[in-house]
Amino acid sequence: MPAEFPEFRLGSVLATSFTATLTERCGNAVERIPTPQRLVDWLAVNGLAVDSCTATQWELARELRESIHAAATAAAQQEALPASAVEVINERSVHGRAAAVLTPGGALRWQLSSPSRVEDALGVIAADAVSILAGERDGRLALCASPTCQAAFFDTSQSRTRRWCDMNTCGNRQKKARFKANQRKARTAAE
Ligand SMILES: [Zn+2]
Repeated sequence: MPAEFPEFRLGSVLATSFTATLTERCGNAVERIPTPQRLVDWLAVNGLAVDSCTATQWELARELRESIHAAATAAAQQEALPASAVEVINERSVHGRAAAVLTPGGALRWQLSSPSRVEDALGVIAADAVSILAGERDGRLALCASPTCQAAFFDTSQSRTRRWCDMNTCGNRQKKARFKANQRKARTAAE
């Protein structure tokens, strides 16, 4: 993996892992799929391998990503879903021709209609977004508590009280900030 590209943040929910290819949206945004090839790489690690991606397909992907982000953010805030975002998600879902197949070991694998069909992979991501936005899955959409992030994530914790999109990054940073603030407070109190 070339060092000049930021690493991917992988989660367990496909649709929100996809929106997490643009992080720190409310701070210094980090684009993790800045080129069509990086989208190819991302799809490969998410079980949606394609052999190539054109600039047009890459644009479709980023449009879908921003639409999922907009819809998931609205859903997390209990607001109406933006019509334009819903339209893009549905369009991508309708145009996907991937099939769910079982591996000999009994796992689910997505089979694209052709290795050049990025559209099929996007269809799978769009359908995943539909299932979480429609409340079909066990969990709740929430916004990350980090002020520079505020990413929508799918909380599947038992108590539904998860605060950060990602424990290793946003969660950890917040904990460190709180630790420092407490140290400062303790010092001031001691003086
Ligand atoms: Zn976050």
